[in-house]
Amino acid sequence: MDFKQARKQFEIYKKLYLDGALTLDELIDKVDMELEVEDKEGNFWKIDEEYENWLFYDRKNNEWIEKTPPEENHENKKTSDTVSSYVTEIQIPSSPVLPENLKKFCKECGNKIEFDHKFCTKCGTKI
Ligand SMILES: [Zn+2]
Repeated sequence: MDFKQARKQFEIYKKLYLDGALTLDELIDKVDMELEVEDKEGNFWKIDEEYENWLFYDRKNNEWIEKTPPEENHENKKTSDTVSSYVTEIQIPSSPVLPENLKKFCKECGNKIEFDHKFCTKCGTKI
């Protein structure tokens, strides 16, 4: 199993879990037992169920550490122009807020008036 296959299978199990077809324990079991990836150097990798990032097995210290596999990095670069990655880059403009100094005051009643209004909204005086 390579990184891409493991990621794909993980997404399937995650959906089953979200649909209630798998319990969290079953999800963890499946990910731990089935989705282990061995790279070209003989190192083991697995996907962290909770954070969905890759963990690399550090044999010197006998522990899983967070690391990005070189192959998955490459995949990401290739697919950087897909619709989903494009959508996340779109910045939603915030509604324009007029600064206070662009407001005027009615000379008759002192009402605050938006700069583009021609008449006072309170007393109707022409600005
Ligand atoms: Zn007024």
